[in-house]
Amino acid sequence: MTEEKIEQGTCLRCGRVATLHRGLCIDCFRKSSEIFTIPDYIDLTVCRSCGAQLKGKHWEYGGELKDIIEDEIHSSLQELSGVEVSLEDIEMRRGGEGLYHVEVRAVALFPGGGVIPTRKALTVRVKSSLCPRCSRIHGSYYEAIIQVRGSGKDLLRQEEAVDRVLERVDQIARGDPMTFVTKLVKVRGGWDIYVGRNQSARRIAQEMHRLYGGDYKVSSKLVSRREGRELKRFTYLVRLPPWRRGDYLLKDGTPHRIEGFQGRRVKLKNIETRREESVEISSVETLAHYPSKEVEMEATVLYTSEREIVIMDPVSFAEVNIKKPPGWKRRESVKVVRVDGGIYLL
Ligand SMILES: [Zn+2]
Ligand SMILES: [Zn+2]
Repeated sequence: MTEEKIEQGTCLRCGRVATLHRGLCIDCFRKSSEIFTIPDYIDLTVCRSCGAQLKGKHWEYGGELKDIIEDEIHSSLQELSGVEVSLEDIEMRRGGEGLYHVEVRAVALFPGGGVIPTRKALTVRVKSSLCPRCSRIHGSYYEAIIQVRGSGKDLLRQEEAVDRVLERVDQIARGDPMTFVTKLVKVRGGWDIYVGRNQSARRIAQEMHRLYGGDYKVSSKLVSRREGRELKRFTYLVRLPPWRRGDYLLKDGTPHRIEGFQGRRVKLKNIETRREESVEISSVETLAHYPSKEVEMEATVLYTSEREIVIMDPVSFAEVNIKKPPGWKRRESVKVVRVDGGIYLL
């Protein structure tokens, strides 16, 4: 298209002296000419389950039908040279099955400064389909199971771990729609989470193991052999350790705080000597365990001497003498751990 010349002159139709577009004033131009064109029909293929749209060979996820239609109009719109058209809004009315009558409101901006609001109508034909993600979900497809297991006592922690798995699936799904949860099943000792993509399941299970420690096992089962390719299903077992970070174990008569996990090992800190050590979980599994919320408490400081702090036992209300740690500053209360009748300063 050639660049249109803008000039002052006499309108060929009404005789008014004005800025001319192709020899006509804006008012006459608008009546006589197509300022922009859009197709009469737009065809879309949309997933009936999740609303994803087929574009060429790819499915695009996460758009509203109205936005998708606006985008399509935008990319198929043709304007006269020199005229700039901006879409204001579209109004959609349902016609028959899969049909939408759409009215487009737009504004045409002319280089001479004229602004003309304008409307056009078109029909959108929506073909309903099922995207690969939804057809897999509907068919209960899965490539892997994440098994979250824990000790029966701490159901809350199992649920917390399951929530974390689901959250990670959602995060990964934003970049990979084939990562989804097909099924979530409560079983004895924990939960089974069926995941659409094996790669993602493995990644999440490994993250869980790094975070929580405990046991981690991978197993697989041959499901079918198709065209010489083996189809395997994987199972990732994440067994949560029986305690959580911050809890206490009574080891060699002294409470040790659980500082963290590294695979099958646990980092412990002796509350008296403040010394840290890393031990195999299996070697301390049978020790007495005290959840932090049951044994950590505030104790009132009654008085202090040169070497000792005297506090009130928050349970028995008896006076208890505690060795004053170096550099300790006087305050009204202190945080203590009360394990097995003994009281330790935190
Ligand atoms: Zn005119
Ligand atoms: Zn879908």
